[in-house]
Amino acid sequence: MIRYQLRCTDGHAFEAWFRGSDDFEAQRARDLVACPACGSTHVEKALMAPAVSTARSREGRALPAPVPAPVEAAVPDAPAGPVATGPIAAEASGRAAEILDKLRALRAELMAKGENVGSAFPEEARKIHYGEAEERGIYGAATREEAADLIEEGIPVLPLPVLPEDRN
Ligand SMILES: [Zn+2]
Repeated sequence: MIRYQLRCTDGHAFEAWFRGSDDFEAQRARDLVACPACGSTHVEKALMAPAVSTARSREGRALPAPVPAPVEAAVPDAPAGPVATGPIAAEASGRAAEILDKLRALRAELMAKGENVGSAFPEEARKIHYGEAEERGIYGAATREEAADLIEEGIPVLPLPVLPEDRN
């Protein structure tokens, strides 16, 4: 369950629980999420506070990943890293979005031009490096350890940029 801080167009703030962001979006799309003060169904997320039910914590599952923030005020409960605000940060957020777009395009290009070898990546990267397989661009999955081993062997490995949508 995720608790959302919501706000209607009149600025009334209230809280509601949802099974997840999809559940929230589905309920909102069907006008089922209404402001308790004025009944308006034009509501948006003001802030998200991830919370886990006791059953889930007992199973030792991870916290739900923070939803990427399409709403400007959506801030996850636990910060993922350093955060900033103020006029400089406001100006920088536009540039950050541009950089993110470039990273997204870069990753899409690498994935479009390369061959997806999935978890066979370390093995395939070695074969290419040692001339046992055709030289070509590949991408796939590697653990931190596998990537470190490859780099140690002199095989160049580029970690693809992690995008906010990956956490979804
Ligand atoms: Zn309201």
